[in-house]
Amino acid sequence: MKHISFYIAFILIIFLADMISIQLAFTQEKSSNQNIAIAIHGGAGTILKKNMTPEMEKEYQEKLTEALMTGYHLLQSDKSSLDAIEAVIKIMEDSPLFNAGKGAVFTHEGTNELDASIMDGNTLKAGAVAGLKHIKNPISLARLVMEQSPHVMMVGEGAEAFGKQHGIEIVPQEYFYTERRWKQLQQMLEKEKSDSVREKKMNVLPIETDEKKFGTVGCVALDMKGNLSSGTSSGGMTNKRFGRVGDVPIIGAGTYANNRSCAVSATGEGEYFIRSVVAHDIAALMEYQHLSIQKAAEVVIDKVGQLGGTGGVICIDKYGNIAMPFNTEGMYRAYVDKSGNPVVLIYKE
Ligand code: ASP
Repeated sequence: MKHISFYIAFILIIFLADMISIQLAFTQEKSSNQNIAIAIHGGAGTILKKNMTPEMEKEYQEKLTEALMTGYHLLQSDKSSLDAIEAVIKIMEDSPLFNAGKGAVFTHEGTNELDASIMDGNTLKAGAVAGLKHIKNPISLARLVMEQSPHVMMVGEGAEAFGKQHGIEIVPQEYFYTERRWKQLQQMLEKEKSDSVREKKMNVLPIETDEKKFGTVGCVALDMKGNLSSGTSSGGMTNKRFGRVGDVPIIGAGTYANNRSCAVSATGEGEYFIRSVVAHDIAALMEYQHLSIQKAAEVVIDKVGQLGGTGGVICIDKYGNIAMPFNTEGMYRAYVDKSGNPVVLIYKE
């Protein structure tokens, strides 16, 4: 009898040890096989080397690298793609270099109205905010809408009241004042005065930016668990009026993520990106037509171009492949290569 219980105990110990080692091997395989990936943009447009000073170029490169690597290190420490995206976009929103948060462009009335959105490719949950005037980090409010409300999109004062209830950081409108953006608005207003009556009647968009530069920021990421997410944040277009809202907070236009295909964030003339449903179109081409991420993104940016729109996208597929096509002279963009090094690009190569 003693022999039998000893034998059973022995078998049980062997069985448990086996289970533990299988579990360990599985966990190791999971983390070592999983590709993390991240890409960011800081806007597309007429970005030419001849118009850039070395100091400006350095400033952009440094800020893009700081934002990118913050996100990459979060992903490396097994944080979710949503955490990485929020952290990255907050850094860019806090910088005056980009048209988002602190550096947002001015509306026709001389105010700042900010838009943002975020999407979780695992659950297909999304949060979007538009027309914010006092929220320091619109991307964080978009995430609160996604995670703390049953809704997808909130606008203006209502969105701000919801943010206050959840303790979001509020700032006065003056926080968003930067001389550079103010001058851009003044130039635009001057130009508008000299536009011919015919142009005005033809409904030419009165919201062109200085030399067509879009400084919207965005981030797409793939985390260790294989979850894709994307986020975008913007001040919109200089001289916008009548409560104009662009593609940035429109899920499927400026932002989209789905674990079955890809994560996308866009920048460019929002009206064309809404009409082309850019971000979702890329995901749909991948899912239904089995196009590669590069091909799908190029096809859709071509379609935007055919309509007369300019801009670009950053995308990551579920394997961590990255595509960043654009049809402008440049796009501030960055990604981490397979060896873990940052690659920062500005102009067309
Ligand atoms: N897409 C943005 C908008 O139309 C502008 C930008 O990309 O900077 O509001």
